[in-house]
Amino acid sequence: MIQLTDSHDRKMDYLRISVTDRCNFRCQYCMPEDIVFQDKSHILTLEEMLTFAEACLFLGVNKVRVTGGEPLVRRGVVKFVGWLKDIGFDEVTMTSNGYLLEDNLEGLVEAGLDRINISLDTLQPEKFQFITRRNHFEKVWSSVMAALETPLSPVKINAVAMRGVNDDEIADMASLTMKYPMHVRFIELMPLNGDTDGSRFRSLFIPGSEILERAQDELGGLEPVEKEDPAAPADEFKFDGAPGTFGVITPVSEPFCARCSRLRLTADGKIHPCLLTDLDVPVKDAIRSEDPIPAIHEVLWHTARIKPPAGLTLPEESRNRTMSQIGG
Ligand code: SAM
Ligand code: SF4
Repeated sequence: MIQLTDSHDRKMDYLRISVTDRCNFRCQYCMPEDIVFQDKSHILTLEEMLTFAEACLFLGVNKVRVTGGEPLVRRGVVKFVGWLKDIGFDEVTMTSNGYLLEDNLEGLVEAGLDRINISLDTLQPEKFQFITRRNHFEKVWSSVMAALETPLSPVKINAVAMRGVNDDEIADMASLTMKYPMHVRFIELMPLNGDTDGSRFRSLFIPGSEILERAQDELGGLEPVEKEDPAAPADEFKFDGAPGTFGVITPVSEPFCARCSRLRLTADGKIHPCLLTDLDVPVKDAIRSEDPIPAIHEVLWHTARIKPPAGLTLPEESRNRTMSQIGG
């Protein structure tokens, strides 16, 4: 098998599929309240997404994450997870806001999901409503607790760090890892969703290093954990004897471009080789062609050739995109 590798010698072995741009939340950093979703006629079918995934698998892409928008709002997504396992991906994971997770846990476990990341920025219901513009904290928390009772435990919790919004909860979030088998990670805020002049970003951004310092100052005893996968973006730490880990993901202050192994497929059939640039490569026609696998391979190799060495700073026009469109 020939391994898909880009022109900077980075192995591309991790695919993220955004199965839908739709979402049942409206997180402030991710999308506007009045977002207009794409017409459904532009969205790939799950069968088409599977064809794309299979073509990637033939080129050595062995890990896939199902994301969105909110993946669990897409009908048939649980079955889709099973298909991805059946065709032979080593690792099939999902990122979800948790709202529909509890009802789908059994199906996802049966389908063979390997891991779940749940996005949760706060432990305070009112603040949750402020951030997500939805009053659903209790339901998400219930999903988190339910997931811990399944083979999907330990669960990963992702929180976007925002100064003046949830930085007063760094210690509370970190403390969860002492009580539960949770890997809690604060992610640095990225300037997307119409933040073209960067003003929202400048007022809210907190670097990962500050988050770690504050957790250490308030709780003490954080010890670094050695990474199993050197390409993993999180820097992780552990409190002595804790069942979980605490960490930061620092795409802004310490971009991990040099070890980036990712490819993203958007719901409307474009490949995004880099989250921090506006580059996209249409692949819908190749997927829908008579002989899709070789056609997709041609597009994948082209994408590998143009994947930039680093995202550098996000051009202003890119900041109009939302993470839900790209598949965070
Ligand atoms: N709806 C699912 C969820 O929220 O987990 C999956 C898709 S969401 C776009 C994936 C991740 O992107 C979430 O963890 C979210 O917090 C993160 N995200 C969205 N906008 C972001 C931004 N501007 N900066 C950093 N992370 C962001
Ligand atoms: Fe929806 Fe996830 Fe974006 Fe929040 S971060 S609006 S849950 S897609």
